[in-house]
Amino acid sequence: MTPLQKKLSAEQLDENLYREVVQMGLDYLQQVNQQPVFPSQESLHALTHFDIPLAPQPSAALDVVRELNQFGSAATVASAGGRYFGFVTGGALPAGLGAKLLGTFWDQGTAMQVMSPIAAKLERVVEGWLQKIFGLPESTVAGFVTGSSAANLCGLAAARYRLLKNQGWDVSLQGLRGSPPLKIVTGREAHSTILKALSVLGLGTDLIQFVECDEQGRIRPEAVPPPDAHTLLILQAGNVNSGAFDEFKRLCERAAAAGAWVHIDGAFGLWAAACQKLAHLTAGMEHAHSWAVDGHKTLNTPYDCGIVLCRDKQALTGALHMQAGYLVTGDQRDGMFFTPDMSRRARILELWAVMQSLGVTGIDELVSTLHERARQFADALSALPGLTVLNDVVFNQVVVAAETDDQTERVLRFVQEERVCWVGGSTWRGRKVIRISVCSWATTDEDVRLSAQSFSRAVQRSLQH
Ligand SMILES: *Cc1c(COP(=O)(O)O)cnc(C)c1O
Repeated sequence: MTPLQKKLSAEQLDENLYREVVQMGLDYLQQVNQQPVFPSQESLHALTHFDIPLAPQPSAALDVVRELNQFGSAATVASAGGRYFGFVTGGALPAGLGAKLLGTFWDQGTAMQVMSPIAAKLERVVEGWLQKIFGLPESTVAGFVTGSSAANLCGLAAARYRLLKNQGWDVSLQGLRGSPPLKIVTGREAHSTILKALSVLGLGTDLIQFVECDEQGRIRPEAVPPPDAHTLLILQAGNVNSGAFDEFKRLCERAAAAGAWVHIDGAFGLWAAACQKLAHLTAGMEHAHSWAVDGHKTLNTPYDCGIVLCRDKQALTGALHMQAGYLVTGDQRDGMFFTPDMSRRARILELWAVMQSLGVTGIDELVSTLHERARQFADALSALPGLTVLNDVVFNQVVVAAETDDQTERVLRFVQEERVCWVGGSTWRGRKVIRISVCSWATTDEDVRLSAQSFSRAVQRSLQH
């Protein structure tokens, strides 16, 4: 053993290291609902501590982690607490954290079954669970990726592969130069990651046929051009501002009859299908061909956890195929054929653990509670003078505005400065708005009440200026 190896192997089994880390994590969670939801100016300023050159020599692992905790922990956003409503950010359920912690020690690579039989097994099991809980076709396969950005990319790659293959063109071999044209149709309100995926896939964004949306951000079905066998229709379960859902039944059936491919971006909204009270929102989505959904938003797995689902296994694995002499394919499942990555961490452990710990009724209740809290938030804000809720709160998103853009921006700034909760801004139908996403299992009715009070003070302050 070299001296460095001696140091490292002593640290590998150093109980103090791991016990102290777990204690730091626990201390963090115990106070996360009391700390400012966004870091204070002082904590942000203290981050300059990290502006130093790389150390010339090794130092003790415990010291390094202590340093991270000392300067890092106060500069986190408190999304593990109950009052972070920014973007669409889930909390992390205990079973997920626990499985992630255990998986950290295992440190499995998941490219092939032979690299991690346990990860391959659970990917197979959870694939089946997702197919059932979302009511998707039995042929549906899943790829476990970082998030819906990657899931959209994979779903659209499968679409590109299949639509061109149907026209006698193998895009994996022949590329795009000289390929038959595709007709790409999506709503004006498509999420930016859809446009990014189309760019990355060489399909560009100039030729997209954008369909007008209604006042909730749903595609107007009558404005969708007639689909044909070259058509890729991209729909949405959960508009990132309003939470609105496209009308899947009519659109999917018409597209499927014409030989088109339908992809649904359901990053947070697809989970409505797993909730009895809200399943009407996704009715008909099972007629699509591919779906993107996150674990780390509505389901509250730890980051990062995205899933691509595809009814056409051959299209997905054809699009993501790779070969090399040293690869060993297993008899069950080799994750790398379902994702863009070769090496990947075993994020399936957390997804499995969260689903297993909630069960069918727990998932249902988690989703319906997010919806109820969003309704509570919307009611509380509507009662404040000058604030208007602009969307139908069908899921977990609330879009609210004051009378003028200027006042909306001031209210937003004052709420953010108070740090009782955190919400973000957006633009919606030409107006500045405040966007609230209730996405954490930890949010209680008291959290919503405290946050609405912060809004109330912000409105008062904005009227005084
Ligand atoms: C969050 C989101 C995405 C991107 O998902 P990531 O997990 O952040 O990569 C795509 N579409 C919608 C509708 C989203 O809300």
